[in-house]
Amino acid sequence: MDIFDKFASLKSRSDLVQKLGVDPFGVKFDHILNATRGMIGNREIILAGTNNYLGLTFDPDCMDASIKAIKKHGTGTTGSRIANGSYEEHIDLEDALAKHAGMESAIVFSTGYQTNLAAIATLAGPKDVLFIDADSHACIIDGCRLSAAPTIRFRHNSPADLDKRLTRQGKIEDGIALVVIEGMYSMFGDKAPIKEFVEVCERHGAYLYIDEAHSFGIYGETGCGLAEEEGVLDRVDFISGTFSKSLASIGGFCLSRHKGFEITRKAMRAYMFTASPTPSNVASARAALDKIASKPELRANLHARAEQLHAGLTALSYELCAGPSPILAIRRPNEIVAATEWNWLLENNVYVNLAVPPGTPQSSSLLRISLSAAHTEDDINLILNAFTEMGKQSEVLMSRVQELMAAAQ
Ligand code: PMP
Repeated sequence: MDIFDKFASLKSRSDLVQKLGVDPFGVKFDHILNATRGMIGNREIILAGTNNYLGLTFDPDCMDASIKAIKKHGTGTTGSRIANGSYEEHIDLEDALAKHAGMESAIVFSTGYQTNLAAIATLAGPKDVLFIDADSHACIIDGCRLSAAPTIRFRHNSPADLDKRLTRQGKIEDGIALVVIEGMYSMFGDKAPIKEFVEVCERHGAYLYIDEAHSFGIYGETGCGLAEEEGVLDRVDFISGTFSKSLASIGGFCLSRHKGFEITRKAMRAYMFTASPTPSNVASARAALDKIASKPELRANLHARAEQLHAGLTALSYELCAGPSPILAIRRPNEIVAATEWNWLLENNVYVNLAVPPGTPQSSSLLRISLSAAHTEDDINLILNAFTEMGKQSEVLMSRVQELMAAAQ
């Protein structure tokens, strides 16, 4: 047997979408011009699927901080903080994050994925029970798998279902219940009813962990996320996030209102046994955090653009998976239609994400748009014009879909 035989069905799905032209999961940009434009060959593409929510990847202060850190400390840390020690940038960013969110403890990680992997797998042990939302991100699921704790899923965004399952579980002997949810969900852009989750957790004495990867920097008066927006930040036990979205870098963080969280640095394998984030990544994230604190107008523009695009797509009769937010997911009838339209949009210089099963909730096929504070009103009109034009081309597109369907038989 060939070692790759088990990927045969994945390969045939992948081969099929490649018949359309560009592999949706392997796009190569030749040059990124700024937060909203990239080049493929000599074509200028509008970027509407980057998670660059605040558009800070080209902010002069963030770039400067990154360059200065490279000049001061070099390009990499070449090891973990346990083995090689910390740089002033790591400590400074942890202090700034904790202070910004009013938390007792902050730990930074090399990616957001590793943050959830490390924290969830370590905070929950064999005698504990994990309760996670049914639509949890892959890194939450992997963190649960890596922990020795039994994991119970509750209905997506349903505090009532969580309540029922916690009641059914009853008292946990020598252990705790840890509930994990996300703030804004990455595929549909829908938001968790955080205050209700806080109340359920408090009633049952369960700890609450919220991944605010897509909501930190975007919601709340100071940009701390949806827990802040709902006025319950001080009642949440753990908040995790990533530097790869609003903070325009790479890395992740976990904050806690408990001082005791500090000790887990010496227990989290995905923190201890991997290289720490580079000084330049950490320095640019630190500069971006300052922007989150000092420039609420970035959030205001982002939300205005989200409202504009949501209204425009709704007027064009597209089915959107949630209300206006920086993530707008358009539901398509199946993955071949979605892939065909995705290709058409790219041919017409608009880059969005193609999101298909198994990575999507309800096995849905989506054209997923993520907006940036750097998008202008004109940019949104440009995106809307492309969708209008695509609607006019439906016959051509449907014949492409049928060819592909026939090839798939
Ligand atoms: N949590 C969620 C909800 C995410 O969507 C992602 C990545 N898209 C991550 C965590 C991981 O973040 P990173 O890219 O920093 O690994």
